[in-house]
Amino acid sequence: MQKVVLFGECMLELRQAQNNTMLRSFAGDVFNTAVYQKRAFAQQSVSFMSALGNDVISQELMQNCQQEGLETGLIRHSALHNPGIYLVQTDAQGERSFLYWRENSAARQMMKLLDEDLRSQVCKADLFFFSGISLAILAPEDRVLFWQFLSEVQKAGVSIAFDPNYRARLWASPEDARQQFALAFAASSIVLPGIEDFATLYGLHKLEDVVAFCAPFNIKELVVKNGSNSVFCLSEQGEVTQAIKPVTKVVDTTSAGDSFNGVYLGARLADYAVAQAIELAASAAGLVIQHPGAIVPNENFQAVITKQKLAFEQQAK
Ligand code: ADP
Repeated sequence: MQKVVLFGECMLELRQAQNNTMLRSFAGDVFNTAVYQKRAFAQQSVSFMSALGNDVISQELMQNCQQEGLETGLIRHSALHNPGIYLVQTDAQGERSFLYWRENSAARQMMKLLDEDLRSQVCKADLFFFSGISLAILAPEDRVLFWQFLSEVQKAGVSIAFDPNYRARLWASPEDARQQFALAFAASSIVLPGIEDFATLYGLHKLEDVVAFCAPFNIKELVVKNGSNSVFCLSEQGEVTQAIKPVTKVVDTTSAGDSFNGVYLGARLADYAVAQAIELAASAAGLVIQHPGAIVPNENFQAVITKQKLAFEQQAK
């Protein structure tokens, strides 16, 4: 069985609802990726690596992971910290804004909670995935520990995958992010940026400039997501550019890139060709943005994935 470890933070999401109430759910970029990978490829072992607290919300979050079929053996617990929280507000024009309480979250303690069992488990995985947000939330001294840990994992033969997912407000400065991302690009064999990450952080707006920027690194598979336009991949299978069928009614783009990543990585582990992996991932992301929130109802998701997988089987006949 193929084994994937995804390292990041999951938070309690609160969303305004009618009658002054709030809807609660759980989300976070890497967590979303893990959920969608497992949903699309149930046969893979998908493990969420993070730190939670010993509180009621942490217990519910663990149950949520289990309901989604995620392995929870790499989740550690901090005695002094709780999960982060964020509130999604929507104004009269439908514009969303986010308020966070995550500066002191349990996930930020992860590197202090690493133990031998966790290290040896991760070293047995086929793939390890993390994002720029996983890095941003770590204290500078803990990032040093993270890079040592990642180097061990890499030496054990685990493939490393990274999505920069640049969020300016989580970093002390753009330079800080650029320094950390340089280490991440150097360590990763699969990199899945959104083109916006490069525009904001490096002033690179064109695909060819992004590709040239990444060329000095030893990236085996570079997958550049360009929103509703296209996805480009440069890999040992050559260059693939796939146009995206734009969705006419976009409800909420939260988790578009995360769902794409989860399904793409699952598909590649399941030996799909790059073009098919992109097609499956894009169909998942196209569905996700037609629903509010990061995690869409599983029935709707399964319907899209099953239809697309069947279409591939028909094409193969
Ligand atoms: P990120 O969330 O990383 O910024 P993008 O905005 O590039 O990611 O979107 C990720 C994926 O979501 C795209 O590669 C595409 O498959 C899908 N997607 C995004 N916007 C649209 C849209 N308007 N219509 C259809 N698919 C979309």
